[in-house]
This record gives sequence, structure tokens and C-alpha cells, in this order.
Amino acid sequence: MEAQKSATFQSLSENVGQFSLRDKTLLIPEMNRISAHLLVGVFRSFGINALVMETYKGLDLGKEFTSGKECFPCQVTTGDILLFLEKEKERLGNDFVPEDYIFFMPESDGPCRFGMYNKYQRIVLDSFPELRGVKIGSLTSEDSYALKGMIEKERTRDFRKAAYFSIVIADILDRLLWRIRPYEKEQGATDGFIERSMMTMADHFESYGAKKDFDTILDKLEAVIEEGKALIDPDIPPKPLIGIVGEIYLRTHVNSNQDLIRMLERYGAEVVNATIAEWVNYTTYDKVREAKVGLRLNLKQFRFDKAKSYLKQVLSYGGDLLYQHIRLDQAYKRVKPLLDLAGDHRIAHLEKTLIKNDLYSFELGTEACLSIAGIMEHVHDGYNGIANVYPFTCMPSTITSSIVRPIMNRERIPYLDAPYDGSYQPGREAGIRTFMYQAYQHFKRRGRKKHG
Ligand code: SF4
Repeated sequence: MEAQKSATFQSLSENVGQFSLRDKTLLIPEMNRISAHLLVGVFRSFGINALVMETYKGLDLGKEFTSGKECFPCQVTTGDILLFLEKEKERLGNDFVPEDYIFFMPESDGPCRFGMYNKYQRIVLDSFPELRGVKIGSLTSEDSYALKGMIEKERTRDFRKAAYFSIVIADILDRLLWRIRPYEKEQGATDGFIERSMMTMADHFESYGAKKDFDTILDKLEAVIEEGKALIDPDIPPKPLIGIVGEIYLRTHVNSNQDLIRMLERYGAEVVNATIAEWVNYTTYDKVREAKVGLRLNLKQFRFDKAKSYLKQVLSYGGDLLYQHIRLDQAYKRVKPLLDLAGDHRIAHLEKTLIKNDLYSFELGTEACLSIAGIMEHVHDGYNGIANVYPFTCMPSTITSSIVRPIMNRERIPYLDAPYDGSYQPGREAGIRTFMYQAYQHFKRRGRKKHG
């Protein structure tokens, strides 16, 4: 999905605050499993009846009701909502009331097609007379289907803070999974442990999210990390370290990427995927950046009224970004002394990396900003291989590939483009094995970055 100019938590709170649907069910699509469940915990703590929909099982429906030209995440999410509603109709029979449901689908005003997903899905739902009453709640949408009055205006800032924190904690749980699983003492133990921990943390967000009692949430997270550490077999030596970048939906939705991380692990890798918080921070950072450009331009032209409004935006988005950094640092400071998990880069640092290497500009936007800079950071940090994961035909990821491939060849760092569209390619596993063989050679030649 498109990151540039997409809904930040600023717009989330502003828009969520306008709507009112406390007696409805909010349907959250499962992009990243852990973050979806933790976000549901946050919604529930604010009195919203939210649930995570099953994912990927409705792909046939998604394909049936799309033309094939859409991005793959659009097909997956369309299938998710259609299958969910079909099952609800079966379960409830005549008691099925479409107005009771709101499908939660963010939108974007950037250059990609993501901004069109929810509009297209509106057309699909409207093509079934019995589903016309199902609303689509969009973070930045101004249409009348929106989530009316879901959260009181005065609580929207608190909601935004808790939602952001849930994303940070979900990222840490994912990093814990990728840190433990390649070194687990007992095969399969990590998956069960992380699933249980996810539910525990979701319950904690439900109990403490609205109160913003983040210390209690972090206390529980510490206990989870301690428990997870005990699953690691200290006698298993470090493995080649693989970094994953790419399009946010595909790299975090394990069904869509055919569980790429697990497959890489099967062939000897330890993997670090880019976080979701990075994407959220990027969208906020970009708002600050754009407001600064507007401020400078208007000051130069002596348009002080407009400059004043841009200054307000700089301060407002800047305050949000500062808050996000404080929470991010708070969480990682608590967990890093316990276990050497990978951290997150500051977006300003990533922009500097792009400028220094003269590779791409934040002016152009899109997730390519994060992916290209993220790859350069991995190169600098001594990763043994890098995978770029994306939906087939994804524009920003194709740009990323075209820019970084020559660099990876020059630096002799194994690089894998991993596009997905739901089909199973017979040669994919062989490609991954070859990539891992190269990564292992790199690891033998140059060693690897230390954990953390
Ligand atoms: S082109 Fe890529 S980033 Fe843009 S909407 Fe499609 S999948 Fe998302």
C-alpha cells in the first residue's frame, strides 16, 4: 500500500472523532496479525466493538470481484470483507443487518492506487443489494458512510496515542518472533508462544489503552520478553542476517507473501523486517516536511497569513512526531537490555541517507523513500542479504528495485526481488534457496552484524 501522504494518526484521530457507531461492529482487516489484534484491543478500550476478520480465505471471492488490474492487497482485502459478510449472513439469517457493520479501510491521497481501494470496494459492496448498508470507515474519507461519533472528540488524541503505542509493541513482538524462532530449543515452540503473547498484550491494551497506562503495558511486555528468551538455545551459532523492505501490506501479511520469513529461516536465515511504526513515523514526518516547505515559500513571498497557518502545522505535526519518537524510545529502552532486538531508524536519518547517496528524493514520496534508504542502512550495518517484498506491478517497489539492484551488484550483497500476486511459482523456492546460498557465502566472507 501507498505510504506517502496516507492517513497519519493525526488524520485518524481527526476523522474518527467525527463519527458515531458505538453499537456497531468495526471490522479490522488483518494486514499484520499482531498489530491488528493489538489495535482491536485499543478500540475496545475506548468502548468500540472491534474484531479482526479472518484473512486470505476469501481470495477467490476477491479475485472474482476484481478485474486483475488492481494491486494484490486490494484483491485480498476485498475477499476478506466479502467472505466475512457471507458467513455473517449465513450465521444470522434474517437477523443479518448490514448497517451493523463498518469495514475499516484506510485511504491515501498519494500517487498510488491505494486511495482507490475503498472506493472500489464500495462499488463491489453496492453491487449486492443486501450489502449496501455496510459502511466503509475510512481514516481520511469525508463521505457520509464514515464512522460517525465513534470516539468523543476530546478523547481522540488519547486514542491516537494508544493506537500508535500498540503498533510499536506489535513491532517488538514481531521482532521477538524473528529473533527467537531461528534459535528455538524446541521446534514450533516460538509460534505458540508469540500467539499467546499477542493475545495477552491485546488484553492489556483493552484494559489499559484508554487509560494510557503504558508503564503497565511495558511491564507485561518485559515479562513476555523474559519468557521468550528462555526458548532460545544458546548453543545455536548466529545465522546470516537478512533484511526485508518493501510494500507494507505484502511484507507484513504472511499469507500474501507465502510466509517468506519462515521460508528464509528454513534455509538458514535470521530475518529482520521493516516495522509498521516506521511507516507511521514516515507519514507524520512527511507532513512536517511539507508544512516546512509551505512555510518557507510563503515567508519568501511575504504572505504572512498563509505562513502562519503552515507554522501551526509544523508545530502540530512536529509535536506528534516528537511524541511518537518518545514512545518508540521508551519501549525499545525497556526491551533492549533484556534481549538484543533490532531497533528502528529515525526517518530524518533515512532522508539524509538518500541525500548523501544521491539516490532518491522525499519530494517524490512513496514507500520507495523508506525501502531504498532502509536497504542502504542494511548495507552499512553489514546485513548478509536483502529482500524487497511487494505486490506484482507495485510502482514504488519497482522503482526501489531499479535503483538498488546495480548498487547491490557493485557491493556484492545478495539481493532478492520478491513480487507476489497470489499465484504459486514453481521456481520461487529455488530462487530463495539460491539467495540464501549467496547470503551464506557473504556471511562466511564478511561475518555479520551483531544482534541489536
Ligand atoms: S502500487 Fe504498490 S504502493 Fe501503490 S497502491 Fe499498489 S501496492 Fe500499494
